[in-house]
Amino acid sequence: MKKLCIILYAVCIVFSAAAQRTVIHCGNLIDGKANDVQPQMTIVVEGNKIISIEKGFTKPGSSDKLIDLSKKTVLPGLVDMHVHLEGETNKDQNLQRFTLNDADIAFRSTVFAKKTLLAGFTTVRDLGGSGVNIALRNAINQGLVVGPRIFTAGKSIATTGGHADPTNGYRKDLMGDPGPKEGVVNGVEDARQAVRQRYKDGSDMIKITATGGVLSIAKDGSNPQFTGEELKAIIETAKDYNMHTAAHAHGAEGMKRAVLAGITTIEHGTKMTDEIMDLMIQKGTYFVPTISAGKFVAEQAKVPGYYHPLVVPKALEIGPQIQQTFAKAYKRGVKIAFGTDAGVFPHGDNGKEFTYMVEAGMPAMEAIKSATIVPAGILGISDKIGTLETGKFADIVATDENPLKNIKTMEKVSFVMREGVVYKP
Ligand SMILES: [Zn+2]
Repeated sequence: MKKLCIILYAVCIVFSAAAQRTVIHCGNLIDGKANDVQPQMTIVVEGNKIISIEKGFTKPGSSDKLIDLSKKTVLPGLVDMHVHLEGETNKDQNLQRFTLNDADIAFRSTVFAKKTLLAGFTTVRDLGGSGVNIALRNAINQGLVVGPRIFTAGKSIATTGGHADPTNGYRKDLMGDPGPKEGVVNGVEDARQAVRQRYKDGSDMIKITATGGVLSIAKDGSNPQFTGEELKAIIETAKDYNMHTAAHAHGAEGMKRAVLAGITTIEHGTKMTDEIMDLMIQKGTYFVPTISAGKFVAEQAKVPGYYHPLVVPKALEIGPQIQQTFAKAYKRGVKIAFGTDAGVFPHGDNGKEFTYMVEAGMPAMEAIKSATIVPAGILGISDKIGTLETGKFADIVATDENPLKNIKTMEKVSFVMREGVVYKP
């Protein structure tokens, strides 16, 4: 008899949990679609989805849970299209390439993932790590770890000695000869194999380092690092596996080659010329600016000993240019998707990018859309996230102030729900 009671009680709980609805009163609503803020709205959530959006403050039913955001502005969960959840900037980063095991990286990444979610970013694209980011995505999907929904590139693809060659700067006997499996390619066959390996590893998309980079232990931060044929092979193979592609690019030549080969997004884009901007407009290529990373490395390079001596001049030169490039590209009509390169600066500070974008001339509403409806389209999940609409996931965040009046409020998101679960009350 006692056993039966327990079973019935359990059934009851499961039943009531499934039926319980959450009623959210929103002081202001930015739904990601409309260009205006809608005052006094109600969002009703059941399970992981939004089941209705109503005008005014709807009275909750007796079994409903009420969340009062009537003093706040409510927005769709934010998307950061460029993060690295496996690590975070510190002065020992190079040494850590030799001291940290995958397990150490994994534990740390759970902390960074949580910080990111609590900053309001319910979805991210992880643009490269060791591959632990794939396990992190899986653990979050299984509900074992708290974090954003992740689309990961796994390990990025580079060329020998290029940005993201994992043994750059090593002693000769440790350098070895990494190949396509490790994400280092030389030639068209390697390029195809590296993409297929990423697919096999469980990557969602492909990241390449089309030019030199700031933080690698190498002299040039801008030179082209792939041939046109290699780029074409990577991008075409990625398409075969339904994966989109992102290219890290500072210098113009490597950037242009990537755009011509059909890359989906250009990351950083520092030395983007007018010609490249026009090519991107023509081909529908997105620009993911990462102004935050540029500003952070330029500042940090002034701290003696923080970066490797080869990194310092690159950080000082490249870092400060990104915001101006963004301003020009936006004005010219290049499509913009929000991305920060978090990890290069502390995780959780992702929201500062909004301030930098608005400072550079983008209207606040457009900046918000670049982090909601726009990336949802690139990721191919517009039917699930990106706007607050009936039938979509209940990925909902709120700010204390109206971001159209004070964009800085995006830097401290005060409420976070992902798929109907509240993480920041
Ligand atoms: Zn990056």
